[in-house]
Amino acid sequence: MKFFVTTPIYYVNDVPHLGHAYTTIASDIVARFNRFLNKDVFFLTGTDEHGLKIQKAALEKNYDSPKKFVDELALRFKNLWDKYYISYDRFIRTTDEDHINLVKSVFLKCYKNGDIYKGVYKGYYCVSCEEFKSESEIKDNDYKCPIHNKPCEYLEEETYFFALSNYEKKLLKWYKLNPNFILPSSRRNEIINFVKQGLKDLSVSRPSSRVKWGIKVPFDKSQTIYVWFDALFNYMTAGLKKGFWPPNLHMVGKDILRFHAVYWPAFLMSLYKYDIEKKLKSFNFTEKEIKNWDEIQDKKKEKILKEILDVYLPQKVFGHGWWTVEGKKMSKTLKNVIDPEELLEKFGPSSVRYFLFAHVPFGQDGDFSYKAFVERYNADLANDLGNLFNRSINMAFKYFEGKVPYLDEDQRNILKNYLNKIKNMSLKEIEELYKKVYEEKVFENSDLDILLLGLLKKTIYEVIDYLEYVNLTKIFEVIWKYIRYINYYIDKTAPWRLKKEENIDRLRFVMYNILSSLFAIAALTYPIMPDKSKEMFNMLGYEVKDLKNHPEFAKKQNLLDYFFLEEGKTLRKGNILFPRLNLEEAK
Ligand SMILES: [Zn+2]
Repeated sequence: MKFFVTTPIYYVNDVPHLGHAYTTIASDIVARFNRFLNKDVFFLTGTDEHGLKIQKAALEKNYDSPKKFVDELALRFKNLWDKYYISYDRFIRTTDEDHINLVKSVFLKCYKNGDIYKGVYKGYYCVSCEEFKSESEIKDNDYKCPIHNKPCEYLEEETYFFALSNYEKKLLKWYKLNPNFILPSSRRNEIINFVKQGLKDLSVSRPSSRVKWGIKVPFDKSQTIYVWFDALFNYMTAGLKKGFWPPNLHMVGKDILRFHAVYWPAFLMSLYKYDIEKKLKSFNFTEKEIKNWDEIQDKKKEKILKEILDVYLPQKVFGHGWWTVEGKKMSKTLKNVIDPEELLEKFGPSSVRYFLFAHVPFGQDGDFSYKAFVERYNADLANDLGNLFNRSINMAFKYFEGKVPYLDEDQRNILKNYLNKIKNMSLKEIEELYKKVYEEKVFENSDLDILLLGLLKKTIYEVIDYLEYVNLTKIFEVIWKYIRYINYYIDKTAPWRLKKEENIDRLRFVMYNILSSLFAIAALTYPIMPDKSKEMFNMLGYEVKDLKNHPEFAKKQNLLDYFFLEEGKTLRKGNILFPRLNLEEAK
């Protein structure tokens, strides 16, 4: 199965900040979990490199051509992504030849389809935003841009418009047919209300006399295609070329959700207008239904309509929240901007990748503070996860000379029986057993053992489920619930006591179970923290060769196969996975 995930293309003149890192890491984690589930993944990121601001900045900095300037700027993003182990498959730039060609051809097609027409645009324009401002936005601020606080220019100019108003009802129909198109669901209504208020046609070009740096309208060189029309189609340039279409998930910040959930599907509906109509015809829809597919009410026909549209339009757009710092909005004047490079140097990529999604429910706004970072790091990473690995491996060295213990025939049969039992247990039954064992602390030894397998099954099923809704925070939670249970298992089975009592049979069985569950944890945390997971696998005697793809030995057909470790395998001691942090030193 194919899976195509994208980040937005970032404005190349920006200095990469925490927001860029947040979106990109989120997309990377989603891409990696899909690889873990054996999907054929295409992960796209890149930079948006056209427009007046770039043109001006390149000139100010004395570059002969903006291209040379953006070549250097794009590297800042690439370098940062490498350090964060971002496993993208293509880094697209809007100055790439194939992208320029595609944008020209789709602009022409929308023009031929009657959705792009020439008109005159009048209004107040902010050069820094590269957009016209509505009068209501600026009149109380002395006609200055509210973001840049610089005077807006009044402009009247020829431009091409995209007939967005033609797609109001069609978009509403599309949202109705796809209740999960806009995620998280809390943002869905915002978008629907925006569309319901009525859509105005969009200006999609600028006079080339003013904006030179960009893609020219193919049939009218006096106009340059405006950045949004240019930028959004990057997904198509890269996706079609690799045979991935449509995208399964666009990950974006909430500030650009509208562009992705409204303008983008409208552009695509226009582009594929005749293809959609042709397909409707083949399903014997009437002429009237074909022209006004947004009005179809019949359930069966709606189902066919959805299947047809699904071929052309993206499946999901997730709009995540923003970060504040110690309760305040990040800004250059407050000097409280969190630099993702600095975080890397202080904490390493894995703890940052973990913290950003564990600390704030993904989708909502969140607050960054060093105190919260250090507390969560020490609790979840140093204690729960790091300590689990280090103490388990140490016990294996102490009791079994650094090898996975051998089981006897009886023990292998017991595990097989447990496995069969678990296969037949529902997730609800597993949760009930969990409550009994972990919360009420009422159990037999066999309950403790069975639950180690049972909870793994539940964890994997829940990861798959939450992945559908891009609920990264919940994914982390269920994995850490399992990690905490393994710690509990160790405390309750107390291998050190078994050793002292010379109950070696039970000790072998218990240690085998612990080490096996560690293998599952290494596999499950690989998408979150590839470099640390590599160390975990290393302790368990496995070699991870590259940090991009999910390790082949940790891709199992049967989910519960994650549990069974090779008996007699040689382990390695390894370093402390997550040394404890001290708040004063971290700041
Ligand atoms: Zn502005």
